[in-house]
Amino acid sequence: MRLLEFEGKEIFQDFDITVPDSFVLDSEDELPEAVEKLGFPMVMKAQVPVGGRGKAGGIEFVESEEEAREAVGALLGKELKGHRIDSLLLEEQIDIEREMYCSVVGDDEEGAPEIIISSKGGIDIEKIAEETPENIVRTGVDPSKGLKPYQARNLAKELGLEKGLFRSFSDVVFKLYKVFESLDCKLTEINPLVVTKNSGLIAADSKVIIDDHSLFRHPEFKDRKSRHIQNPLEREGEEKGVNYVDLDGSIAVMANGAGLAMALMDLISNEGESPAAFLDTGGGLSEQRMKDSLNILLKKASSDKKVRAILVNIRFMISPPDAMVKGFKEAMKDRSDNDVPVVLVVRGRKSYVEKAMELLGDSEISIFTDVKEGVKAAIEQPERS
Ligand code: GDP
Ligand code: MN
Repeated sequence: MRLLEFEGKEIFQDFDITVPDSFVLDSEDELPEAVEKLGFPMVMKAQVPVGGRGKAGGIEFVESEEEAREAVGALLGKELKGHRIDSLLLEEQIDIEREMYCSVVGDDEEGAPEIIISSKGGIDIEKIAEETPENIVRTGVDPSKGLKPYQARNLAKELGLEKGLFRSFSDVVFKLYKVFESLDCKLTEINPLVVTKNSGLIAADSKVIIDDHSLFRHPEFKDRKSRHIQNPLEREGEEKGVNYVDLDGSIAVMANGAGLAMALMDLISNEGESPAAFLDTGGGLSEQRMKDSLNILLKKASSDKKVRAILVNIRFMISPPDAMVKGFKEAMKDRSDNDVPVVLVVRGRKSYVEKAMELLGDSEISIFTDVKEGVKAAIEQPERS
């Protein structure tokens, strides 16, 4: 889960890393309050979970209330790099003497964090690595021992920083490692780490990615997860309480159980096709959840013409099929004739299967009681244009 810049900076503050004075603005009405707090010149930064906002026009420098109002109008509610801008981070403008770089990255191959620092910042680290690799210093950290302050100092020394700077720089490195460690991050990055005119260090940007697998240890972030999910259908899945994974193949798959859905994906792969989506509705399938689930897949199919069919496999075990069928029909109602075909496989308790077939009798979808036949019917569907 990638945090927004202002969320990352809130955490930095908790760990005593200096950030600019700021105000998070969600609506234009809040502007006077922000102006009162920060004054001018001010920086306005679009809060979207992607980098390179500066170049993409997501950062505005304003000198007056009029300019500020204009910038809010130009940014708030608009799209930037595929994300709607729901909030702006307003900050006092800092006087930049120099931009540096500092990050801690989880290195999957080493199974350990790596610290990367550079005396050059403000641009992508990949670019720095390419253009001036001599400006980068990196080192692995033994996660069981953590980072010792002297290690951070040695690292900063390697960059050849002048005395006044290397103390404060190594201090930031040390704190940034603490953030990484405490929040089970995959990445913590400050780019640029700004050296101000009076040689102070300020984190002008933040990038914090928390490992999703550790979210159970950080319930305060778990709640925010859905709005951090970048794929809109995956976000909708999270909000509706179903597990949706967006994929790139031809058959969208859905089942009431993750194992069942995975088995369907295997069967599809065995036939040389690939799944376009995975959706696990979870157990205890209600009318609403059935409807929400099928709706997500119908949306997927309407936005991705590579999807040739939706394959649904429902196994009836404990609850009678009435609610599920109702939800299914409800979702199918708004479908038009040239929409994606839906193939349904019903299995499980015999009386429930029969009841489901009976209830679905008047709908014009293909229903099977054999999974392989259902898979075959799905992959035989023609390409859509
Ligand atoms: P990104 O483009 O999404 O990575 O956004 P950043 O927060 O890194 O901002 C991009 C660039 O804008 C920085 O590298 C700075 O050069 C500049 N910038 C950001 N905040 C300030 C500020 O307060 N004062 C000044 N002078 N420049 C800033
Ligand atoms: Mn940046």
